[in-house]
Amino acid sequence: MTDPHQLLKQVFGFDHFRGVQEEVVERVLAGRPTLAIMPTGAGKSLCYQLPALALEGTALVISPLIALMHDQIRSAEALGIRAASLTSADDRDTVVRRFLGGELDLLYVAPERATTDGFRRLADRVPLSLVAIDEAHCVSEWGHDFRPDYRLLTRLLDDHRELPRLALTATADPRTRADILVQLGIPEDGLIVSGFDRPNIRYHILPREQTGRQVLGLLAERPGPAIVYAPSRKEAESLAAQIAASGRPALPYHAGLEPQVRAANQAAFVGSEEMVMAATIAFGMGIDKPDVRTVIHAGAPKSIEAYYQETGRAGRDGDPAEAHLLWSAADFALARQRIEREMPADRQADERARLQSLAGLVEATGCRRAILLRHFGEDPAPQCGNCDNCLNPPATVEVTEVARKLLSA
Ligand code: ADP
Ligand code: MG
Ligand code: ZN
Repeated sequence: MTDPHQLLKQVFGFDHFRGVQEEVVERVLAGRPTLAIMPTGAGKSLCYQLPALALEGTALVISPLIALMHDQIRSAEALGIRAASLTSADDRDTVVRRFLGGELDLLYVAPERATTDGFRRLADRVPLSLVAIDEAHCVSEWGHDFRPDYRLLTRLLDDHRELPRLALTATADPRTRADILVQLGIPEDGLIVSGFDRPNIRYHILPREQTGRQVLGLLAERPGPAIVYAPSRKEAESLAAQIAASGRPALPYHAGLEPQVRAANQAAFVGSEEMVMAATIAFGMGIDKPDVRTVIHAGAPKSIEAYYQETGRAGRDGDPAEAHLLWSAADFALARQRIEREMPADRQADERARLQSLAGLVEATGCRRAILLRHFGEDPAPQCGNCDNCLNPPATVEVTEVARKLLSA
């Protein structure tokens, strides 16, 4: 077996494992069943890709979406990893031939196929290294994306009790975690939870006065790839134009653009070292750009979860990055109106509570990171030293609580 650290450097080009990756990889290599809870961007793929290379045989990777599989395969192949998927969009004969010939390090399969008798017979004919179950929250009814086919995976897993079994998800809620362990036959001591802290991201939250001027001012001092999240398509367009007019390459991205334009703008951004993407929240999912240095919110996000996820697109490479949120009380008034107009009655209280938590974050005079991490159930240090309030404690404690008052009215 090749040394994991050597593979990390030679195949993936990284000097260090990040967070719990090393622990997860070691467990898999030791054959111990594991459920890894790691936030988006933490590097879950490497946790099964590296062991797949270190161990003999082909790794089966269960993944729910064809588009997701094909993205993963493209990035694996770019590293020289031999990967394929068996979906309706693939040439079945070629993939089966490579699988049977032992020419694959990774085979991606959707759960509905992986649980058929035909696939199970096929898998019995090939030496396998491990079974990875990505997006494992799909196995639980408590999760936000239950898929009944995930339940049937026990058949395939029972066929291969001797293989290392690794389930992965970013879903943090304890009830879902416990359910995944039971459904996939992983003992409680197989649970590895990665922290949610992103210490290299510096958080700034400040009142919005003049969006365009403030955004341009921030960008002028911050070279490197940046994302500006705008509250509407129109504002994304307008910000992209203003930023481009200031001499910095900038493009818009939102769901109202033609698919080809979206794809072209995304590719231009991913390939650039200085571009700004002025986007709605339609931008970001599945985009792998580790060197985004700045994320600016030109208006309040939907919730703390959304804020964490959107700012989390900064600094995935671990180098210093910044998040700036420009908010106004009007954002909260509007969000509240929207809840009352558009949400079913039984969801309104929940949504208002989420908005209240967000108001608590933006109006806080204490450490922003501590608030974020406590929100995700962690017990952080009271001061992080790397957010606006820690670096520049608000001089006068003049708590106006505009947003919170607005919401409780
Ligand atoms: P997840 O599935 O957890 O959202 P990915 O597996 O897509 O995350 O990885 C996110 C990014 O982190 C990718 O760009 C990947 O190359 C990078 N990455 C993974 N592991 C490391 C590491 N040890 N050091 C630096 N970057 C890493
Ligand atoms: Mg992933
Ligand atoms: Zn702080």
